[in-house]
Amino acid sequence: MASSPLILSAPLRGLVVALGDLPDPVFAAEALGPGIALDPLDDILHAPCDGEVIQCARTRHAVTLRDDTGGEWLLHLGLDTVDLAGDGFTLLVAEGERITAGTALLRFDADRVACQAKALLTPIVLTNAADQRLELLATPGQVVERGEALLLCHADGAGEAEGAGLNSDAASDDDQAATEVRRELTVAAASGVHARPAARLRAIARAHDVALRLVAADGREADAASVSALLNLGLVQGSRVTLVARGAQGEAALEAASTLLATPETSPAAASQAPAEAPAPSASSSTARADPEGEPGQLRGTRASPGIAIGPLRHYDPPLPRVAETAADPAAERQALTAALETVAATLEASRRAAVAQGHQEEAEIFDAHLAWLEDPALREAAEHHIAAGSSAGQGWYAALQREVERLEASDSALLAARVDDLRDLQRRVMTPLAEAGEDAREVADDDLDGAILIAREMTPSQFVAVAGRIQGLCLAAGGVTSHLAILARARGVPCVMGLGEALLSLTAERAVLDATHGVLESAPDAERLAQREAERERHRAQARAAAEQAQGVAVTRDGRQVHVAANVGSAAEAEAAARAGADGVGLLRSEFLFLGRAAAPTRDAQQREYAAALAALGGKPVIVRLLDIGADKQLDYLTLPAAPNPALGERGIRLWRAFPELFDTQLEALLLAGSEVADAAQTTLPLRLMLPMVSDVGELRWVRQRLVACATALGITRLPALGVMIEVPSAALCAASLAREADFFSIGTNDLTQYALAMDREVAALAAHCDVLHPGVLRLIQATLDGAAGHCPVGVCGAAAGDPLAALLLVAMGVDELSLEPAGIAGLKASLRALDTAALDARVPELLALDDGAAVRAALTTWLDTPASAAQA
Ligand code: PEP
Ligand code: MG
Repeated sequence: MASSPLILSAPLRGLVVALGDLPDPVFAAEALGPGIALDPLDDILHAPCDGEVIQCARTRHAVTLRDDTGGEWLLHLGLDTVDLAGDGFTLLVAEGERITAGTALLRFDADRVACQAKALLTPIVLTNAADQRLELLATPGQVVERGEALLLCHADGAGEAEGAGLNSDAASDDDQAATEVRRELTVAAASGVHARPAARLRAIARAHDVALRLVAADGREADAASVSALLNLGLVQGSRVTLVARGAQGEAALEAASTLLATPETSPAAASQAPAEAPAPSASSSTARADPEGEPGQLRGTRASPGIAIGPLRHYDPPLPRVAETAADPAAERQALTAALETVAATLEASRRAAVAQGHQEEAEIFDAHLAWLEDPALREAAEHHIAAGSSAGQGWYAALQREVERLEASDSALLAARVDDLRDLQRRVMTPLAEAGEDAREVADDDLDGAILIAREMTPSQFVAVAGRIQGLCLAAGGVTSHLAILARARGVPCVMGLGEALLSLTAERAVLDATHGVLESAPDAERLAQREAERERHRAQARAAAEQAQGVAVTRDGRQVHVAANVGSAAEAEAAARAGADGVGLLRSEFLFLGRAAAPTRDAQQREYAAALAALGGKPVIVRLLDIGADKQLDYLTLPAAPNPALGERGIRLWRAFPELFDTQLEALLLAGSEVADAAQTTLPLRLMLPMVSDVGELRWVRQRLVACATALGITRLPALGVMIEVPSAALCAASLAREADFFSIGTNDLTQYALAMDREVAALAAHCDVLHPGVLRLIQATLDGAAGHCPVGVCGAAAGDPLAALLLVAMGVDELSLEPAGIAGLKASLRALDTAALDARVPELLALDDGAAVRAALTTWLDTPASAAQA
């Protein structure tokens, strides 16, 4: 009996294209099966029907689903996209997952993919078609909305009697046994057995009327008639596989199949260029492949701090926030609990909205569930019961959730036990605002962390500081990480990658490789790969040792330009470390770090001591102290800042002076006193220099100069420190000429300049890859700053770009006089500068500024620096 037809909805908004019109002979000839294609107009691929995910391409560009009638649907994002090795794709589902129509399957960066692949055209094909008949519900050329009915799949029933009749065109069992032949080979195709080779294998089997199966080295088998079974074998370049053919033309089929699999490149274009007799590369040469993205067992994120770490993966499980056990006033505790629950609910709601906006539906659902839990009257009631019995709010919440955790842990249901993590998460979240002061800095006592690559969803700066000396590397899944953690990781020289996604949290490995320079975590490197990366790490260490020996010397480029290489620090202790690391001075002392993690602002005396110690540490070399830069991502617990719908664009940095005159005046006095305390009468300019954050026009500089003069006069101080301006607001860059006439120096804050120029929040991990200082728009603002300053004042850079190996060289070539970065990078940067011919690179600047985006500039710069020509010039 024929069943009712299955409706497949459009998996994304797009233009309908007939398969036959695709510029890809495999899809166009329906070698993979019948179907339809869409030219995408949005960037998330959704499930067209209910079913199960049966295969996710390891390069993340394709997903195969089995619908509830057994039909297997390959959704292949773009053409030749396997060659992108995962770049630009984020899988949102996992194999084995049950999905419903509309479930988000895969997110892709449309621009990135379109620029690199043959096309974005996305075929949707039924790979195990037997007797089904597809009826198109949309017309080629028409735009369909996501979720709109696209195809009807009629199971006409004629094939039902054949059961798994996919082999129906193969030889019968009788003659198979007599004619079974086999051949073992190594897969040479760079992208392994992905959709295209799988389709060709099936075509070969059909053309030769044989039953063809592939047996992987671990014994798993797949019938070539089933594309998804073939894909599930996960054969990559270098995999050993045995082909087994049964049928009269078995030998001929094996010959064709082994030519296909043992030829290094299977794309039509490349295949025609490759010599037919090209030898298959050995397994060893294939595993030594340099491209880190094409390998299985890898996650990709955003580099926060470069370097290579090799070691065991360890999950960061910090102790719960310390809360008071008891409290005398239950009413006050109940109020505190309400306030904490509201704070957490607001954070969860914001995270939920952000997840929805970014298309992370699953993540949004988790936040939804947490919100529901937070509102659970039974939990609240249990916590209040403990409070009534004398517990503090934090302890009451802890105890209420602990009981629930224990109940779930004791249950036999794996599903329920899996909820324990959620409860623990909520336990911690609500206890955090109720914790005792100073809690964050508690030490983590787990010995396992020594030498480990640490895995965490997210981490606060103080949690990081507590473990930084013990770990080799850091991997974060989130989202929600502050760039100040990245600053700290660079400062400590800890390789760190962020935005690795939720999959990170289930990884385990005793020997993993974190290549933070390229943003890749390899959790399953084989012995050969490990040896290769260890050798690489040794090479880096040897280079670093050589650079360290020269760190105290000046950095003079090959064409004779001396570049001042200074340090970014947050305290006098870090200033001492910076001097040891070879800093020519301090280019940025983030004074707000002295104000963080305390119950009240430091007194004038305490500040004076700290500033004087920092000045003394540098022994007369210049020290630039930035006046308090708070607001947006930098909040002080004891200061309620004016409310702003968008704090990054609100009252922050120098704009807050008028709201908190005492705070700023006290800081100014402490600085003036420290400056004159350490001043050497013989020096014409004071080592202390002051810098103003978030300046948008010259009026702000004038106002602060007046305050400076007034404060100095009141203190009887006559030698004033230089007063400079951070260029981190686009208007300041564009009005650089007027600012330069009155400022003593400029320092470009590329972190904020980039976020404001590109309108991309520097805190949003999903934007990190695009929020690039090398975007030509940002570079033009830097160029405008240099042009405006020319002949008036020197220009430094103190944002993260100064520590970015590519950007730093370009900035110097453009004319920047000083680079200020985390101390750990100073020696290496000086070594790179000594090898640079700035004039040769400067000649390329107009060409770079004309490129499309940051990625293009990065690629062009990398190519230039890698060419023998640049080496000769540089
Ligand atoms: C910057 O914006 O580049 C900068 C150096 O300041 P911060 O990162 O502290 O905002
Ligand atoms: Mg800034």
